[in-house]
Amino acid sequence: MTESLTARVALVTGASRGIGRAIALALARAGADVAVNYLEREAQAQATAAQIRALGRKAEAFQADVSRTVEVAGLVEQVEHRFGRIDILVNNAGIALRRGLDELTEDDFDRTLLVNLKSAFLCTQAVFPGMRARAWGRIINISSGAARGAGVVGAHYNASKAGMEGLTRGYATRLARDGVTVNAVAPSLIETDMTGPLRAENAARIPVGRMGTGDEVAMAVVMVAGNGYMTGQTVQVNGGLHFN
Ligand code: NAP
Repeated sequence: MTESLTARVALVTGASRGIGRAIALALARAGADVAVNYLEREAQAQATAAQIRALGRKAEAFQADVSRTVEVAGLVEQVEHRFGRIDILVNNAGIALRRGLDELTEDDFDRTLLVNLKSAFLCTQAVFPGMRARAWGRIINISSGAARGAGVVGAHYNASKAGMEGLTRGYATRLARDGVTVNAVAPSLIETDMTGPLRAENAARIPVGRMGTGDEVAMAVVMVAGNGYMTGQTVQVNGGLHFN
């Protein structure tokens, strides 16, 4: 029932591993060609791209720090040069610096807001004009249950993800008539490198009794990408953990 993504071009930030990698592969299985962004793990990004090519789709890895304006401009220019355009943007790249209130520094706060929130703003600003001109686009922001709940990372992380959901609504409203939808997918407690140290202490309090997988988050992303009537929403993928 979802719209086919065949011949669509997706850019997934932070797709070398974890949730981003699962999203990149799921979009490729749904028919999209995929630009795989990463920060420093080139071999893992190349492996994601190779796996996508093995599915019969086009894929390349692109290094860029998406918290930096100049690097985002270069990333979008390179992807558009190699793939022709960007139809689907998944703002997934993020960091979770676990800090208690007494140890949280201004640098931690600034870095978190830059990587988790400003990156989504920079990437969205760079791609929406093309989407609007073609009257088709999907922007999907990977938020977190921490946008609304307390979470386990820290107040700086809560702020970054709540800001991301604000961006989601702000862009969704302003692009709704242009064929561009903007939604958030908010996971909680997915098994990745980010949550490695948290697994034992958290799995027991998740209602379904286990942590989630990147593939389960990716399924929600593909659903959102294939639905032109849904915009400005946050889809939670959290095993029933609505207030954490
Ligand atoms: P992860 O395993 O730590 O992977 C992070 C990814 O982001 C990597 O591909 C990394 O690239 C990339 N990255 C980090 N900083 C970047 C930057 N400045 N520029 C470009 N890429 C950058 O994390 P994850 O668990 O998959 O999380 C993915 C997203 O889901 C994040 O936004 C996170 O906040 C969100 N989330 C995760 C969970 C969870 O339970 N895991 C829950 C809620 C929300 P390299 O590999 O090159 O370092």
